[in-house]
Amino acid sequence: MHKSIINLNEIKKKINLKNKNKDLEPLIVAVSKTFGIEDIMPLIEFGHIHFGENKVQEALDKWENIKHEKRNLKLHLIGKLQSNKVKHALKIFDYIHSLDSLKLAQKISEEQKKIERKIKLFIQINIGNEPQKNGIRIDELENFYKACCNNFDLEIIGLMCLPPLNENPVKYFDKMKKLSKDLSLKHLSMGMSSDYMSAIDYDASFLRIGSKIFGERSK
Ligand SMILES: *Cc1c(COP(=O)(O)O)cnc(C)c1O
Repeated sequence: MHKSIINLNEIKKKINLKNKNKDLEPLIVAVSKTFGIEDIMPLIEFGHIHFGENKVQEALDKWENIKHEKRNLKLHLIGKLQSNKVKHALKIFDYIHSLDSLKLAQKISEEQKKIERKIKLFIQINIGNEPQKNGIRIDELENFYKACCNNFDLEIIGLMCLPPLNENPVKYFDKMKKLSKDLSLKHLSMGMSSDYMSAIDYDASFLRIGSKIFGERSK
């Protein structure tokens, strides 16, 4: 069996052991950025459906053909999206986890009207209030969310965060859970290779896991 399948099964087993009393199983987005389709293919053949990429062009190059063949595959954009790439992003992605500005919200709204399809969106939160990070500030979130729903008719399914590096993420996951509850949102995209087990304690429903599945990235 391919290493990525063994790794994914181990992750699922760990989650199930911990999650015995919860009825909702978190969905695993296998983050395949930098890996070639030959590394990804075994997981696709195994039946895994959700994959994550952080660059629009890389995703188009890698996924356009295979998504055409396998219609059930779902692709998640987890990296920064520039407004001028929205049109291309909508061609290949089913979910965008990185909605982080009104300008981007407006552009997505315009482009998705043209193709008569609503993409599923997460609002990215700058949960540690870090100057170098993307994301909506906590104090802006309520207004931003209202604008997304009322002015732009977007389908916001949840919130996403990347907690500050080299810190225990737990207090940030806890904050995310509260923010999500305040807005009655259904989903939380949080938890990566190093911290997915604590993310599920705070009701993460979309885990974005790369290196624990595919191995270390070379670049
Ligand atoms: C790369 C990346 C991940 C996955 O990271 P790993 O540590 O390899 O699991 C998750 N989320 C985002 C936004 C990423 O860019």
